[in-house]
Amino acid sequence: MNYDELMRLALGRGFFVPSCEIYSDVPAGFWEYGPLGTIFRNRFINLWRKEIVRRDQMIEIDGSQIMAKEVFEASGHLKNFVDPIVSCSKCRLTVRADKLISDNINEIIPERLTDEEYDNYLRKNKISCPKCHSEFGKVSKFNMMFRVGVGAIDESAYLRPETCQSIFVDFPRLFKIMRGKLPFPVAQLGKSFRNEISPRQSLMRLREFYQAEIEVFYNLLRINEFEKFEEISNYVLRFLIDTRINEISCEEALKKNIIPNKLVGYYLAIIQQFYEKAGIDLNKLRFRKLTSKEKAFYARSAFDLEIETSLGWIELVACNDRGNYDLKRHMEVSKRDMTVIDGDDKVLPNIFELSMGVDRSLYCIMEHSFIKENDRNILKLNRYLSPVQVGIFPLLKKESLQVRAKEVQNILKGEFQIFYDESGSIGRRYRRQDEVGTPLGITIDYDTLNDNEVTLRNRDDMDQKRVKITELLQIIRGYFLDEDNFR
Ligand SMILES: [Zn+2]
Repeated sequence: MNYDELMRLALGRGFFVPSCEIYSDVPAGFWEYGPLGTIFRNRFINLWRKEIVRRDQMIEIDGSQIMAKEVFEASGHLKNFVDPIVSCSKCRLTVRADKLISDNINEIIPERLTDEEYDNYLRKNKISCPKCHSEFGKVSKFNMMFRVGVGAIDESAYLRPETCQSIFVDFPRLFKIMRGKLPFPVAQLGKSFRNEISPRQSLMRLREFYQAEIEVFYNLLRINEFEKFEEISNYVLRFLIDTRINEISCEEALKKNIIPNKLVGYYLAIIQQFYEKAGIDLNKLRFRKLTSKEKAFYARSAFDLEIETSLGWIELVACNDRGNYDLKRHMEVSKRDMTVIDGDDKVLPNIFELSMGVDRSLYCIMEHSFIKENDRNILKLNRYLSPVQVGIFPLLKKESLQVRAKEVQNILKGEFQIFYDESGSIGRRYRRQDEVGTPLGITIDYDTLNDNEVTLRNRDDMDQKRVKITELLQIIRGYFLDEDNFR
């Protein structure tokens, strides 16, 4: 499935839509989840909670979206969260300089060059405005945080550009009240905000987006005393090495120094397992180790989990070993002690993070799940992610059938997400539910009136069987509880 086909499905069936769409000329980069998209997103988050947060007995918090200026002075965002931009001297078209250059010379240029180095690239390659072909002005830096004025005195604060900062600043209290021990993982799901220069491709580059982040506080001195590694030591990870993807067990990756330690290996494994369960095609998943030029200057090591789509390889999760940079900086600026006692050591913990883009993940899962079979378009979402669980269809628009269909709906609606549909041919109604991934369909026909049985249809194999109405609830419960589906 390509991007245009997916967008047609997303818009036409209510997965996601542009924000404020009845007005023209509104800023780009803001999208909203429609009825199906909202349930789909919630189910994805439930899976994340089940497979990662609860698996690891993590705690989860829900921090403020507006945070004080001091936080971002400490984190470095005020100074460093900048993109190089350049404007056309004539039409004022403003674009990211690094993107403009790499698109024009067809190679990836290093991040974090100086403004002069970008200017040189532009001049050397004679790059002009793609719109009006005039010359570009000088490159400058643009801070991507949204500033907000708080209270009557308009005190400066910022919409958080990443959710993790509240985990860092809350750490001393969380560690104390939860009687924490290192390693100490903390999770958070929520919105983050970045004033992107050129938001694009709907959910791929948003200005307001969901992140699901996990921050693991650990003691560097004990990094290889990590027993949980045994759970995944034989699990095979997919690493991009040179230009090829290599399948390497965690154990071997550790021996060959591809991963720096057991803790990092464990978390890379559980995030890959999570995406496998979410329906990502593993043949289109890879970890890419960032070079020292690409990763943040304080990071000890960094991997991007990337997924191949019709738009190319997309980064879904940044897996960063942030060292003790965050706590050290917050300690310096706040003057509060952030150290904790771990065994006999008094330590300022290091942090390993899994920072996941939720919206992009949903896009990729949809793209990987969509298939065409003859005349059927099927969104083969795993059953625990499908927004609608059961479609209910009276065979014809006849009162006797409608009454029984409503009875079936009443039996199921307390536990399952139902879609009742009585318009159009039965074949077309099946197709409409196939297209949004509904795994089960129930048809009420004239036989139902006599034998109290309905036809239960399975989306994936189109198997149809007759089921007694009295047994329906039990059978459907079993279907959605099926643990095989989680392996
Ligand atoms: Zn121009």
